[in-house]
Amino acid sequence: MDARTQAFGGPALIDGFGRTVTYLRVSVTDRCDLRCVYCMAEHMTFLPKKEVLTLEELDRIASAFVGLGVRKLRITGGEPLVRKGVMDLIGSLGRHLRSGALDELTLTTNGTRLTEFADQLAAAGVRRVNVSLDTLKPELFRTLTRGGQLAQVIAGIDAAQAAGLKVKINAVALKDDNAGELPELIAWAHGRGCDMTLIEAMPLGEIEVDRTDQFLSLKDVRRELESFWTLTDIDHQTGGPARYVRVAETGGRLGFITPLSHNFCEACNRVRLTCTGTLHTCLGREDASDLRAVIRAGASDADLVDAIRLAVDAKPQGHDFQIARAAAPAVARHMSTTGG
Ligand code: SAM
Ligand code: SF4
Repeated sequence: MDARTQAFGGPALIDGFGRTVTYLRVSVTDRCDLRCVYCMAEHMTFLPKKEVLTLEELDRIASAFVGLGVRKLRITGGEPLVRKGVMDLIGSLGRHLRSGALDELTLTTNGTRLTEFADQLAAAGVRRVNVSLDTLKPELFRTLTRGGQLAQVIAGIDAAQAAGLKVKINAVALKDDNAGELPELIAWAHGRGCDMTLIEAMPLGEIEVDRTDQFLSLKDVRRELESFWTLTDIDHQTGGPARYVRVAETGGRLGFITPLSHNFCEACNRVRLTCTGTLHTCLGREDASDLRAVIRAGASDADLVDAIRLAVDAKPQGHDFQIARAAAPAVARHMSTTGG
């Protein structure tokens, strides 16, 4: 097979700006057992079941992307491990790893259920998981997640590592909450052999607090870290948008995801599928294609491929996030709907 000819035939998924799409994030649920303050409102209205894709529908669409040359799938949510039957889906998608069609099947999780699922994930072919953890202080963790237990997440990370999974820790940098603790969190992650990535808070979805109060520029964080650590840029690529440095003092890798202070759109290879089957080709725009309508109308695989190609062809050149005080969020949907 020609390198650009995919399992479904025809060329790879290339958008109107010449970028090849090789990475699909799939949100399998909008539900979650936590309510992180920057992500969700305290009282969320979740989607009715009939609007959410079945596991078979999720498998069908994700597999169509694999057929079109997607090499990396990330399962996310909401909290993916609260979706009933999620291990059946992950186990089934594992067939694309075994066939060689997929390089990586991975997961972003809050870690609360990893003690239960780590072994099954490893058995399905998952090699790496991202665990979101913004603080090591139990009280602050409970506040930031509105009720979560830090010990449960740490136990989950232990279980993942014991199962042989590589764990990357993701933390959202929050000015008043964890800013002062970030060096400790980074050193802790590196001490456990985990990479660490810092994320800027993005204006996605209405929440109770004003995001200008939470926003912390990673440029400032990096400057602060460099006042006592030696950070060296490295060329580490994970297929995601993070830019990495090596921290000489800890020996670990540290990534920065900076949608607001640095534009990373030129090299974007990603698209996102929500749990309702909406394809978003840009996290920061309202563009959307309804693949659920396509498949529920009885589409053939060829029709589905056409709908995917049409959507990818129209992928926007870039986003224009801004954090302006009192402004409505740039994008009305929450991160838990789009999938982080
Ligand atoms: N529940 C899983 C978790 O927390 O890892 C997966 C979904 S969560 C939406 C994915 C990632 O998005 C998490 O690392 C979370 O911290 C991040 N996130 C959520 N809302 C965000 C926002 N408004 N800005 C930046 N990151 C956000
Ligand atoms: Fe749940 Fe993840 Fe959103 Fe936190 S960031 S509320 S864990 S979906």
